[in-house]
Amino acid sequence: MTEQKKTDLYSLDYGELLEFVKSIGESAFRAKQIAAWLPLGVGIDGMTNLSKTLREKLKATTLDTLPRVKEKLVSKLDGTVKYLFELHDGEFIESVFMRYKHGNTLCISSQVGCRMGCRFCASTIGGRVRDLYPSELLGQIITAQRDTGERVSNIVMMGIGEPLDNYDNVVKFLRLVNREDGLNIGYRHISLSTCGVVPKIRALAECELPITLSISLHAATDERRSEIMPVNKKWNIDELLTACRDYYSHTGRRISFEYTLISGKNDTEQDARTLAALLHKYLDPVKAPIHVNLIRVNEVAETGFKEGSTTSANNFAAMLESLGITATVRRRLGADVNAACGQLRHTRR
Ligand code: SAH
Repeated sequence: MTEQKKTDLYSLDYGELLEFVKSIGESAFRAKQIAAWLPLGVGIDGMTNLSKTLREKLKATTLDTLPRVKEKLVSKLDGTVKYLFELHDGEFIESVFMRYKHGNTLCISSQVGCRMGCRFCASTIGGRVRDLYPSELLGQIITAQRDTGERVSNIVMMGIGEPLDNYDNVVKFLRLVNREDGLNIGYRHISLSTCGVVPKIRALAECELPITLSISLHAATDERRSEIMPVNKKWNIDELLTACRDYYSHTGRRISFEYTLISGKNDTEQDARTLAALLHKYLDPVKAPIHVNLIRVNEVAETGFKEGSTTSANNFAAMLESLGITATVRRRLGADVNAACGQLRHTRR
């Protein structure tokens, strides 16, 4: 059996698992047994209530897509763990495990590489290699839980890749990760961040998944945004914010906006005023609460963008607050292991 013909077990929903189990001549209750093992990530050999013959059969017919820990860096500053995972075909991705008071959060990758080309971001430097399967999205969580021995209670899809550029697999993953007999992570504990793939924001609104959507905005005028984010040339700010407004009207779910502060490019008080006016213009008519997450740009050797001071970030936040917008300056975790926003890569250095 060739690799392509093998079944990607961890990507199956329960109905598909049932079909698969029948297709290899086994009875339905085996599906239930297998489903119970999958979130534990023990591998087929670890599924000890299955007969040896069945385990051999499964090994011959399924693909082992669980990411393997290739390297692990632990931040001395805050205990954040950055994983370099190796995938079944030899590609690499990174995930970041962060401990907060409210629980552990895993920042997961959605693609090997990225084709969006944002100028400040390391993940896009080599382009996109391939999309991740639902099993590999789940697998990052399963492997991290096994490795740390701790439960992941929150997921942020803010690692390498553009989740909405891998839409079908991401939506399937969201449904799988939420299953009670699976990883059982509530939709409200999941954030998905996008650079602004407008048609997929609209599609997501129809899915009725109460996750938190984050929009990487980073500039308040088309001229400035197109300069740093090529995706803006395809879907401009008007199209993007109109989609956000409609998303809120349809789902009632708050959207948050990410704004990376780059010294001398988008971080003056005037920029804050322009940003506030823009968000009010689109979101006030539907009475959507507005929240901006400010990120001080993290250094990426190739880009040369400079971060401003903490004071200027706080001033920017204060200006937004005074204009009726809640703003937080994102804490930087794992900076000493290059695990901060925009520093993840799919190749080893
Ligand atoms: N492709 C998605 C997911 C990546 S999320 C998206 O664009 O939203 C990672 C977040 O970190 C995004 O808001 C991204 O714009 C931001 N980011 C990228 N590079 C950065 C850098 N060098 N410093 C700070 N934030 C950065």
